[in-house]
Amino acid sequence: MSKNIVLFGATGSIGTSVLNVFEKTNSEFCLKGITCDQNITSLIDISNRYSCDKLGVAREGLLHDGNEFLTTKNTVYGIKNFDSFINDDIDIYILAISGLSCASLALKIAETGKILAIANKECIISLGKILLNKCEKFNTSIFPLDSEHNAIYQLISNNNKSVRDITLTASGGPFLHLDLDKFESITREQAIKHPKWKMGNKISVDSSNMMNKSLEIIEAKNLFHFQPGQIDAIIHPQSIVHGILNYHDNSSYAFLSQPNMEIPISSLFFPNKDFRANEFDLDLTRVSRFDFFEIDNDRFPSFKLGKYVMQKDGIAPHLFNYTNDKLVKLFLDGAIKYTKIVYFNERIIELYFKSHQNINEPNVDDLNEASKWVDQNLKTIING
Ligand code: NDP
Ligand code: MG
Repeated sequence: MSKNIVLFGATGSIGTSVLNVFEKTNSEFCLKGITCDQNITSLIDISNRYSCDKLGVAREGLLHDGNEFLTTKNTVYGIKNFDSFINDDIDIYILAISGLSCASLALKIAETGKILAIANKECIISLGKILLNKCEKFNTSIFPLDSEHNAIYQLISNNNKSVRDITLTASGGPFLHLDLDKFESITREQAIKHPKWKMGNKISVDSSNMMNKSLEIIEAKNLFHFQPGQIDAIIHPQSIVHGILNYHDNSSYAFLSQPNMEIPISSLFFPNKDFRANEFDLDLTRVSRFDFFEIDNDRFPSFKLGKYVMQKDGIAPHLFNYTNDKLVKLFLDGAIKYTKIVYFNERIIELYFKSHQNINEPNVDDLNEASKWVDQNLKTIING
């Protein structure tokens, strides 16, 4: 039966991969809504290609630009109005918007009782139990699209024995072998050029300094209800193994595939794994070697901080995630140096817990309060 889908963030890297999966199948998918932030040209193109008549543009300022095509369609402006895409006919909501701006939207989707297919890790980390409990209460299924989490999800679905712990892998990013004394002068262009994936700028910077993996261990803790001691990550530069379940008898199940996001995305539409795409053929004889090694805390201090934050839990993951969002923006705008992204985040966490108790199960107001505190204090920290 045909599935009705809303694709939030259709114009991004994940959005494009979702559309690529549609292109390669004869199955029935009906795109009922697509959104972008400001990339209207691409949104219009998608609308034409998939006969999708409901459009969303987050930048409200663009409303006044009076684009003729958009006025002939059912177009909403402003992310706060994206919940008008929610209705009973929709089967799957794909959340592929980057950053925390879609947190309220994620909570609204959680109330639908349908499928929330989520690539956006920022919401899972900051909202944590608020999102998960809401999904549970309304019987909404969360389907992880982040590749490592999708791997663990698929493994657990097939082998739900008594898992001892899990291992995520990290490619190591572009600076795995760079001299440490060159880190200070890493540029925006170097940081957004990932060796394995073509992704949005924010996640590319996160991948380059291992912040992405620090966020992902917390994402995994929230999604799969593991204790911090049951989650680790290792570097695997070939990016063929994505996630591993480890059992008490010291055996493990690993999930292998070519490093392409279309594979985890296809598992959303093809739970029986009959998605056929020859270009993703995994010929192990052509993967000349498999390397695995520990994450070096001197090279990637974000990982140590991420583990601390995961252990601390409560409001800490949101502080860490929110502050990182801000700092990555500042780096991309040329306002701070590369190495300061993690350094200032560490200072924020240190300063916050000097003057505040942790909050065990923060609610949305607590998250907003903490964000406000970061906004007020980050400037002081940056200006020394
Ligand atoms: P991109 O930057 O490529 O795309 C982001 C999408 O969200 C675009 O459609 C963009 O619109 C839209 N968008 C950006 N800001 C806003 C906003 N404030 N309000 C509404 N819409 C907005 O990001 P990615 O596709 O790389 O990543 C999306 C999410 O998926 C992130 O949370 C990332 O961490 C996660 N993810 C990505 C992976 C990847 O391989 N790319 C892998 C695993 C997870 P516009 O085009 O107009 O800017
Ligand atoms: Mg990932």
